Amino acid sequence: MTGAQRTLFLAAPRGFCAGVDRAIDIVDIALQVYGAPVYVRHEIVHNRHVVDELRGRGAVFVDELADVPPGAVVIFSAHGISPAVRREAKDRGLRALDATCPLVTKVHLEALRYAKQGYSIVLIGHRGHVEVEGTMGEAPDAIVLVESAADVEKLELPDPSKVAYITQTTLSVDDVRTIVEALKRRYPAVHEPAKADICYATQNRQDAVKELARRCGIVLVVGAPTSSNANRLVEVAATLGAKAHLIEAAEDIDAAWLTGDLGITAGASTPEDVVMACVKRVCELGDYRVEEFRLLEERVMFPLPAELLGAAKETGVAVGAVNERAAARVSGGEIRIRHH
Ligand code: SF4
Repeated sequence: MTGAQRTLFLAAPRGFCAGVDRAIDIVDIALQVYGAPVYVRHEIVHNRHVVDELRGRGAVFVDELADVPPGAVVIFSAHGISPAVRREAKDRGLRALDATCPLVTKVHLEALRYAKQGYSIVLIGHRGHVEVEGTMGEAPDAIVLVESAADVEKLELPDPSKVAYITQTTLSVDDVRTIVEALKRRYPAVHEPAKADICYATQNRQDAVKELARRCGIVLVVGAPTSSNANRLVEVAATLGAKAHLIEAAEDIDAAWLTGDLGITAGASTPEDVVMACVKRVCELGDYRVEEFRLLEERVMFPLPAELLGAAKETGVAVGAVNERAAARVSGGEIRIRHH
């Protein structure tokens, strides 16, 4: 050990959240219960390691339901779908399993409730993101998308006294605060979600990356370029002055980055073995001592779809009522199951 040894801070919570655990378990169990192929609309979660692993076991990823043969099993991704997609699956006679994260479903239900009550709904989110497309599909005539405070200034809503907002689940907490402040200035009576739409996993990972950025000048975020929450982690670290890099795998680490103490975290769809490979790679490239810091324990789990549990029982596939990955992750601790 030399005096030049540096510290690699490993943030926790990092990586898989309860919604991702559940979505992967649904594909995993569906493959056991129904056999391959099982079709999945869109990437089940935004991570190529996860997608490649499931593809290797017989999952077929498609962009459109038209690519799924009649009668086949199709799984909707964790990001949620619009009612039109649900209807299309029914009309085509597909056997659909819904892996939409319950915290995304919560936002869909808010949109429906506000639309029924005659509100104009401002959705804060990123245009083109799968989750946003699904949420907008719940009430296309009532929802308008804003991506920034500048967008709020351009809004023209029919009744300023009947405005509500909802958000994508994986945004930057600080960005949303700025946009909401702009909304409240323009529409003082704007209705807010009873509980924040940004999910617990996004919030916790952002809190942890802020702590990383305070401790070290270099932050590596392991995640996919398509992952909203991983991209937000990079932005949050950069805002606090860290040199932040988004990497998908250990091979992406550039030795030239390793100039001092360094932090590693991961988006909610990144498997832990990919994170560990990155830790190993940093330690091979430089003289680093690994130190984990944990802001809090996450003990959230979501129940699996009842129809999948029923089919598993009928076919003798042994599964618990909740996602097994989350059970393993929090084993030994108190487990909190959220029903929505
Ligand atoms: Fe659900 Fe949040 Fe995970 Fe998305 S990031 S799957 S909303 S828990």
